[in-house]
Amino acid sequence: MRKPFIAGNWKMNTNCQSATDLASGLAAELSEVTTVDVAVCPPFVYLQSVAKALSSSNISMGAQDMYFEGNGAFTGEISTEMLKDVCCTYVLAGHSERRHVIGETDELINKKVKTAISGGLLPILCVGELLEQREANKTDEVVTEQLKKGLAGIDAEKVLAVTIAYEPVWAIGTGKTATSDQAQEVHAMIRKLLAEMYDEKIASQLRIQYGGSAKPENTAELMARADVDGLLVGGAGLKVDSFSAMIKTIA
Ligand code: PEP
Repeated sequence: MRKPFIAGNWKMNTNCQSATDLASGLAAELSEVTTVDVAVCPPFVYLQSVAKALSSSNISMGAQDMYFEGNGAFTGEISTEMLKDVCCTYVLAGHSERRHVIGETDELINKKVKTAISGGLLPILCVGELLEQREANKTDEVVTEQLKKGLAGIDAEKVLAVTIAYEPVWAIGTGKTATSDQAQEVHAMIRKLLAEMYDEKIASQLRIQYGGSAKPENTAELMARADVDGLLVGGAGLKVDSFSAMIKTIA
């Protein structure tokens, strides 16, 4: 049985005060929730303040990105050790904004996933197709390539540290959620691929989140589908009310 996992990606939003207010609000609102794994991914500069606000809660923290080198002359980058030092458990890898705005490649993302695992962080590997790729019936091809390249060289034992997030790019931040049929179809395809890449047992253990305009109104329908194990949430994760409503719906 896969425990539902919902993560809030705060992106380049909040300030010191609003980040800590959001974290404290969620900690208070979700103190009774034990049946759902919950994480928030604040901007780097607020990780320490958020960690303090979450210190006696059951909410984990993740970073939105990291670099694959241990330390040294990499101006502007953040290492696994640094993230662990400020109490991160998770790290996003290959979010669509990093792929399509910043220009990250599958090869770079794969290095980050490997480094995260070896450094003791739990990566959330994001995959998903652009609108034109879906319209050209290339969704499976695109997602398969991103998954195979993103998980290249990661063996069966290590892959259990990974969560996959299927995020159709056309649904992210657009208010246009994938239907639960569209989400289930791709999630099932991903699980089948994971069974081919690893084995059935591992595929059945790995969690696959859906991301793309998930909100309180569509949480129950998305989460009711067999292969949807959780949500990666942007906009609706920025308010205590909406994010906690989604988690309570799942719990
Ligand atoms: C995201 O940031 O990964 C995301 C899915 O954003 P939104 O929920 O706003 O579409």
